[in-house]
Amino acid sequence: MRKIMRKNLANIFGTVLYLTGFVFMRNVLRKYFAKHAKIRILFYHHVGLPGDDDPNLYVSPAAFERQMRHLKRDSKVISFDELMSFLKDKAYPEQDCVVITFDDGWKDNYEVAYPILKKYGFPATIFVATGLVGKKNMLTWEQILEMSNDGISFGAHSVTHPHLTKIDLKAAREEILNSKKELEEQIGKKVSWFAYPFGEFNSEIIKILKELDFECACSVINGSATRIEDLFILKRNGVGNFSQGAFAARLSGVFEMFPANLIRRLIESLCLN
Ligand SMILES: [Zn+2]
Repeated sequence: MRKIMRKNLANIFGTVLYLTGFVFMRNVLRKYFAKHAKIRILFYHHVGLPGDDDPNLYVSPAAFERQMRHLKRDSKVISFDELMSFLKDKAYPEQDCVVITFDDGWKDNYEVAYPILKKYGFPATIFVATGLVGKKNMLTWEQILEMSNDGISFGAHSVTHPHLTKIDLKAAREEILNSKKELEEQIGKKVSWFAYPFGEFNSEIIKILKELDFECACSVINGSATRIEDLFILKRNGVGNFSQGAFAARLSGVFEMFPANLIRRLIESLCLN
């Protein structure tokens, strides 16, 4: 309940910042005065209407379409490959960019999100828990292969989606290695990117990823990806059923600014305590 209230407050606060012109001003000021452009990695789970699992994991098809339309008009969407080139070369893009990612490998990624992504010509990356492929509501290998040959790239997300920091290291290593191997075999491409199940990681898990030849891993820590980013703690921004205003506010990074951040925390603590 508190989580839903917090999300609604973030939505309302973002809309207010957008409608009052704060987001617009922030973007204009950034365009002229920011030292460098930023790359923001977005992450989604389901694109569809809520089913039996956590409703917070869903973005409605209408909201997703609205968000993609907004990106087409206001942003530059780049692929995960392009993101890695910038980060590995320690270079900045010429303008702010967005990378679209999905976690787990839900069937609606193929049925709902993929046609919308195609319509706007956007690349995206799906982090798949390979042991769940073909199960109820999950992608099949045929769907994964079809998308892999058509602008969607794939990363590993373990086999069974465990809490990697809570199982023993040998088991964690097997989860990571087997998801990479299976995905590589199925799509016939090298898999070098990982997303932590539940966003949970520690130094031991990072060490395993490096030993297994991964290039990077995505967390669920909010923020933008910059050239000084630790490649194994890439920041990402979770997207919900945001209004256009709240989505624009999230993309602008306004929530990470000191006054907006402070006001939001203040409102949350006043309303939720
Ligand atoms: Zn996940």
